[in-house]
Amino acid sequence: SGKWVKVMEIVRDFEEKCATPVSRLKQVSDAMIVEMHAGLASEGGSKLKMLISYVDNLPTGREKGLFYALDLGGTNFRVLRLQLGGRGRGILNQQFVEVSIPPNLMSGTSNALFDFIVAELAKFVSQESSDYEPNPGRPRELGFTFSFPVMQTSIASGTLLKWTKGFSINDAVGRDVVAELTEAMERHGLDMRVSALVNDTVGTLAGARFVNNDAVAAVILGTGSNAAYVERANAIPKWHGPLPRSGEMVINMEWGNFKSAHLPLSEYDLEMDAESLNPGEQIYEKVLSGMYLGEIVRRVLCWMAQEAAFFGDTVPPKLKVPFTLGTPAISAMHQDTSPDLKVVADRFKELFEISSTSLQMRKVIVQICNIVATRGARLAAAGILSILRKMGRDTIKDGEKQRTVVGMDGGLYEHYTKYRKCLEKCLNELLGEEVSETIALQLSTDGSGIGAAILAASHSRYH
Ligand code: ADP
Ligand code: MG
Repeated sequence: SGKWVKVMEIVRDFEEKCATPVSRLKQVSDAMIVEMHAGLASEGGSKLKMLISYVDNLPTGREKGLFYALDLGGTNFRVLRLQLGGRGRGILNQQFVEVSIPPNLMSGTSNALFDFIVAELAKFVSQESSDYEPNPGRPRELGFTFSFPVMQTSIASGTLLKWTKGFSINDAVGRDVVAELTEAMERHGLDMRVSALVNDTVGTLAGARFVNNDAVAAVILGTGSNAAYVERANAIPKWHGPLPRSGEMVINMEWGNFKSAHLPLSEYDLEMDAESLNPGEQIYEKVLSGMYLGEIVRRVLCWMAQEAAFFGDTVPPKLKVPFTLGTPAISAMHQDTSPDLKVVADRFKELFEISSTSLQMRKVIVQICNIVATRGARLAAAGILSILRKMGRDTIKDGEKQRTVVGMDGGLYEHYTKYRKCLEKCLNELLGEEVSETIALQLSTDGSGIGAAILAASHSRYH
């Protein structure tokens, strides 16, 4: 019928605009490498900030004692305690709580956000079992994972450059986030020191290195997306400080803000961006991370409802509301293995009060999910390729059996199996079989928080 002709036309057109053939991915990767160089050359030289983390030594596995972490991501924050055994004994004990951030605090004041967080932290600290032994004669020490762009001034200080991922707390921008946290601790009478301020990518890399000496990069695929890797200190022209003894510096790329004419974007992406809190920014993040994938699918379906009467004569009102289709829902529908796509039917009933989906319609919905997830996963693979190329790990040097581990963290990568598999397959496709065998993507669940606690240990002021 006429409806289906129009529907398939919209799907085909969308698929074309989202296409990511290898040739395109190589162009994206080339462009990213150019930006990496520019961002390392000068402050403000690129959309890629390539931030200096002040982590010039990654964990060795000898870290010891009781340390805490606070991991503020986008959707939730986690508070952790780790008992580290020292010299190869790893993590003896670990505990965490996860708290979701009330939406009103995401656009309130800095004090309101940090007071809320510290209240949870104080509660967590007060409920400590005897399995954990505080380090005698020292205050408690904390690694603070803060997953927003920060210009660090030392390992334990840095000013917030901007918010991303739906946060907009204006009075915090330009302020030292460690000072904000410390002042909130003082307001609550909580005696704790912040020994390390780290981006989640840097935390994940540290956590991955703690368990595997071959870890040299980390990627976050959660609410947002970002990556960090180990750079040679003398390849960072904008660094004017003394060269670290290790000769290395971890760089927080802030790759979410990458943008290139080679990125395959559709009109749905452009509209979502235009209506977002940060138009024109975080474009790469907006095509591949968890906050946005579901929203892109919703926008396509909305257009199909309007232009092709996909759900009948009117557009179902609930379908018009932005961000009502989350990425966990599209992952569940995409991975629905039931013959009649029952998960899709159920979700549409629950979320949008649409109860009359035919099997043919459900198949189209799954197809849209597949297009969006495939594009995101393949573009993420192109990003990882860029890092490997920058580090010279995309080829096999004569006779060397160098192995490369990339630490991976984030709810999207962890839970969306089809996305993860697609990313892995695409990376193999880009690298070729021989090189692929030397590269391992290693899921480190909660690596961002664990790594921050370990960095607090290695940067302890009380050795
Ligand atoms: P954050 O990025 O806020 O630190 P997480 O790493 O836990 O937090 O990632 C949370 C994000 O992961 C969610 O916003 C969501 O987009 C995505 N996510 C969570 N569960 C799933 C799932 N089952 N399928 C797909 N994506 C998921
Ligand atoms: Mg996180």
